[in-house]
Amino acid sequence: MAASDARRPRVLMVNHVGEISGAENSLLTLVRHLDPARFQVAAAAPLGPLASELAELGVPVSAMPALRLARPRNPWQAAGTWLRLRRWAAKLSVAAQELGCDLVAANSLTAGLAAAIGVRRLPLVWHARDLRAPERTVRWLIPRATRIVAISACVADALTAAHPAARERTALVYNGVDTARFHANRPAAQVRAELGLPDDAPVIGSVGQLVPWKRQDLFIEAAARIIAQIPRAWFLIVGADLFGEHRDYVAELRALAASLSLGERAVFTGFREDIASVMAVMDLLLHAAADEPLGRVVMEAMSLGVPCIAADACGPAEIIEDGVSGILTPPGDAEAMAARAVELLGRPAGVARMGEAARRRITEAFSAERMARLTEDVYEEALARGER
Ligand code: UDP
Repeated sequence: MAASDARRPRVLMVNHVGEISGAENSLLTLVRHLDPARFQVAAAAPLGPLASELAELGVPVSAMPALRLARPRNPWQAAGTWLRLRRWAAKLSVAAQELGCDLVAANSLTAGLAAAIGVRRLPLVWHARDLRAPERTVRWLIPRATRIVAISACVADALTAAHPAARERTALVYNGVDTARFHANRPAAQVRAELGLPDDAPVIGSVGQLVPWKRQDLFIEAAARIIAQIPRAWFLIVGADLFGEHRDYVAELRALAASLSLGERAVFTGFREDIASVMAVMDLLLHAAADEPLGRVVMEAMSLGVPCIAADACGPAEIIEDGVSGILTPPGDAEAMAARAVELLGRPAGVARMGEAARRRITEAFSAERMARLTEDVYEEALARGER
């Protein structure tokens, strides 16, 4: 260990799954931007894409089993869940010790629970990224976290509503987009050809896990209304049922697209590794989720200059300045989304102006550097407190 290492606290980043979605992309962005003069980083996560990316960044990773905790339906299941959590927490405690960590940063509620149970001797920062978490669990964890990083005002408000102790220990730190890294690295013509999109067709996209709360059903309903006005339009439904828990929903989405006669115009792309290149061929992104904690995909599309139309609620309503850097429509209203999309696409200069404002909004308010500096401050406060 270099002499200076002794003075730089080591943060243990804890994630409960190995797949990469919004929370993990935010974690990777943070790790890439944390000041190495202020912090060293280690991680505890299941083997998989996240662990591989962390290892590539030179982060020592302690391999954990995956820990997906379904809401127990009976006392037997509850006991089984509790046992798995306890085992995971014990393993995490060993990892924290072996890696010589000074602080635990839990990247999810599940990771936070395990850290609160297993690593009592270290300060705990919980990155709260969820709006649909079980309230009892949230209430339990809040007073046990030294500091909490909420990814949006709407998440911070939900925490305070769940437990008054959240107010004094929560800091609002928006996720950041690494604009230097997040850009198309494949030619648009190649991506279009691969997806079967004609060169000059307007493309409207939705990006996100195929899970019911993301409301791709509303996207498809909006698509049917848009195509009635813009017959040349094509639609991309990008993303997958990452954990295989929503097969019925995916089947319903396909059936809905068929019943609305979208045919080949609704392209289900599955999960795309080259997500920036796929977003870059879109003229517009529609995001219909009404309880989106922040909406990384909205920020990413905006950073590429792709305007977004999103439900006027929670995270997207904090990101988008309505009518300037994007458009907000009433939650659950496919008709309004479609009408605004048709109106905007009819004014190419308006699309370009909004795309430029969107790009500026992300660089100015949602940069990776800003996220990293503010998060470092929270980590330092937690270390200074030294206890929970
Ligand atoms: N994503 C991706 N490929 C896909 C779909 C999504 O790489 O096919 C990425 C997307 O770029 C974003 C993340 O997955 O960084 C999804 O983040 P978001 O916070 O919007 O959703 P969630 O974490 O709730 O799934």
